[in-house]
Amino acid sequence: MKSRLVLFDIDGTILLTAGAGRRAITTALHEAVGPADAFAEVRFDGKTDPQIVGELLAAAGHMGPHEAERIEALCRRYVTLLERELAEPAGATRLMPGVQPLLEALEAHDEVLLGLLTGNVAEGAALKLRAGGIDPARFAVGAYGSDAAHRPDLPAIAAERAAPLFGRVPRGHEVVIIGDTPADVACGAPIGARAIAVATGGYSVGDLAVCGAHAVFPDLSDTARVLAAILQ
Ligand SMILES: [Mg+2]
Repeated sequence: MKSRLVLFDIDGTILLTAGAGRRAITTALHEAVGPADAFAEVRFDGKTDPQIVGELLAAAGHMGPHEAERIEALCRRYVTLLERELAEPAGATRLMPGVQPLLEALEAHDEVLLGLLTGNVAEGAALKLRAGGIDPARFAVGAYGSDAAHRPDLPAIAAERAAPLFGRVPRGHEVVIIGDTPADVACGAPIGARAIAVATGGYSVGDLAVCGAHAVFPDLSDTARVLAAILQ
């Protein structure tokens, strides 16, 4: 009987791609609208890929009609470029401390269903996980930036997708979201999910502690304590 749907963010939580994601997405934008200094000012973490592309287009002064189709096409181009970037030796994708032991510990618990909740488009998520040496199939369900540009829409999508494996739609504290930004902490509110924040991305423990996370960890290396917070 399942009692926990545990949803992991990817960038800054499971791994970092040493800038491969940022290079791929800005290259896609350069190809489409030319270089723009304003790109450097757009922060990516906590946002979905379509949201990032939309903000980059806006920063370059190129938001016009038919933006949804344009954003979708740019996300497709980004995935092609991402695959190349991740293959670069300099792009060495790095797993965050404690991720492997934590995933193994969660997989050993029958009541846990593992999933992803990420702003990455689905194909980009799989590419990044493989680059980090993690089989995407270890996550039974996922909600992605390709499902919705608005992150707070993603937890309900993941919960619906989990229903056949969970036995029902998990809700409230049965859903645990693990992420590295205030946006990860906030996005579970519509379904009453619990958030566990980890300071391995661009935000400190202090930044994340004031966002209403159920627990905050400097990294995921204390498997016993993180597991206890998840299963609580
Ligand atoms: Mg993240």
